[in-house]
Amino acid sequence: MRCKSCSGEGLLRCPDCSGEGFDYGIHKCETCSGEGEFACSTCEGTGKVGIMDKLKSKA
Ligand SMILES: [Zn+2]
Ligand SMILES: [Zn+2]
Repeated sequence: MRCKSCSGEGLLRCPDCSGEGFDYGIHKCETCSGEGEFACSTCEGTGKVGIMDKLKSKA
């Protein structure tokens, strides 16, 4: 499924797909702004979070 925010262009700064161009339900980590900090426990340093992880982090 193409990312709606960037029309599948995969813009690096696209917050919805983190530059993937496709919406896998994986979004830029809001905790570290997608920087993927080593200490970030929300995205485990990847800078991206799946929708399930996002739900878990809010629970
Ligand atoms: Zn996008
Ligand atoms: Zn993070």
